[in-house]
Amino acid sequence: MTPGEVVISEEEIQRRVAELGQAITTDYAGRHPLLIGVLKGAFVFMADLARAIALPLEIDFMAVSSYGAATKTSGIVRIVKDLDADLTDRHVLIVEDIVDSGLTLSYLRKGLLARGPASLEVCSLLMKKGQQRVNLEIPYVGFEIPPDFVAGYGLDVAERYRNLRGIHLVDGVEES
Ligand code: 5GP
Repeated sequence: MTPGEVVISEEEIQRRVAELGQAITTDYAGRHPLLIGVLKGAFVFMADLARAIALPLEIDFMAVSSYGAATKTSGIVRIVKDLDADLTDRHVLIVEDIVDSGLTLSYLRKGLLARGPASLEVCSLLMKKGQQRVNLEIPYVGFEIPPDFVAGYGLDVAERYRNLRGIHLVDGVEES
């Protein structure tokens, strides 16, 4: 497996992240959002997005791992690292790298909603067109992409390529 052509360049990502940051800054004016990054894929996006938001905010991370095949979600998610923060009455924004079937996010949302946040929304850098198996409303989406396997800007293939600055197609990974 090798990283193939760039599907979203570093410049395009930076422009879009700035726009998302502005939208979130406007929508959350007067509030102190708590950004929750889903490790490991969201770590690069989280760093850029947090700095594009001109509000007092806090960040926390949780790590999840999906059972089953390495490149496909099974919908069953194990929490590997839980949050440090108490979500009670907080305005929580989940920061995700990519939504494919949406099963991971759906599972996470349910779990976090049970912790009593004042609000809970999602910001995902990428969303694969037409792949969602659950009904999800995601107010902040960076880019809609075709259902090909991608890596870079935090996203991996077997833990590699997270440090690439753009989003690349990955050759040789079977998609559903
Ligand atoms: P979902 O539960 O929405 O089907 O899958 C979400 C998770 O699957 C993402 O957080 C990510 O870890 C992984 N994933 C889905 N599509 C891709 C992809 O194209 N590239 C990479 N690196 N991970 C992906």
